[in-house]
Amino acid sequence: MRDPGDFIDPTLLTTVLPDVRVGPDHRLGEIDHGQPGATVILSGGMHGNEPAGIRAILQVLESLRTANTPVAGRILGLCGNIGALRLGARYSDRDLNRRWDLPSVTQLRATRGHVAEDVEQLELLHVFDGEIAQARGPIVHLDLHSMSADGVPFIVVCSHPQSAALAQNLCLPGILGLEDAIPATTLEYFTTLGHIALAVEGGQHQSPATVDTLESVAWLLLASLGVVAWTAVPDLEGRRDRLRNRGLNLPPLRVTYRHGITPADHFHMKPGYRNLQAVHAGEVVAQDNNGPVSAPTDGWILLPLYQAIGTDGFFLGSQIVQA
Ligand SMILES: [Zn+2]
Repeated sequence: MRDPGDFIDPTLLTTVLPDVRVGPDHRLGEIDHGQPGATVILSGGMHGNEPAGIRAILQVLESLRTANTPVAGRILGLCGNIGALRLGARYSDRDLNRRWDLPSVTQLRATRGHVAEDVEQLELLHVFDGEIAQARGPIVHLDLHSMSADGVPFIVVCSHPQSAALAQNLCLPGILGLEDAIPATTLEYFTTLGHIALAVEGGQHQSPATVDTLESVAWLLLASLGVVAWTAVPDLEGRRDRLRNRGLNLPPLRVTYRHGITPADHFHMKPGYRNLQAVHAGEVVAQDNNGPVSAPTDGWILLPLYQAIGTDGFFLGSQIVQA
């Protein structure tokens, strides 16, 4: 096990990204011309079976360097779970993206942890601490993810008011109120500290479109923050068109219903539901001990449960009514 806070030698991610080397402190690269502006932290591979985010980050950094694009602020690309990426597994001992609530972080800092992901998290905390301490402007974290199944890509919006405003520029459906569904992620950590956080689920792990989706979202975020000029975004209109098509032009949604379950319920989702599929009030979407389970309202189904473990059967999202 590595010592927390130690610099890691350049590391070959042999399993899923054999050509990628990670620099010290989980770094994929950084661009900083000393100009004022936001610090944008792009992280990929928080789950070790999700290489697309890392590819996307590397492509953005490479394009910026090749074009010698002026950068106002700072862009840092980070590799998440190095050990799990080596294995090509979601994680080694525990999910790295589930213990970022402040009590867990405080405890981890005090105990230094026990398992592989504790070390990964301490190393990332060390990087985040440094970035927060030296930031010259707002801090914005974008965490890039991918999914096991095909599905509509989407943005996870945090409760920071600027998060929703930024998400509107990213041309994918933004989902608000998911913190309760997926608590204690990095999103919660940055938000709790008063920073802006967004996550993007870019599509299926291995699909080439997923890298393009994640890369495009990163570009649009950088331009929205003024870190790069809109004119510096390669193929800006093409990227916007592709994102809108992949996101089915869905409006921003808020999570309005959670169908909680216990093992005793013997809950079974009806086959064939996809994330962000439209459903109608009364539509039977699952079965349990008591018979059919139906959607209580019209809406869009979120995170339908098709695995054996979990306490969330499904969620419903509803269109946000503008005041
Ligand atoms: Zn993920």
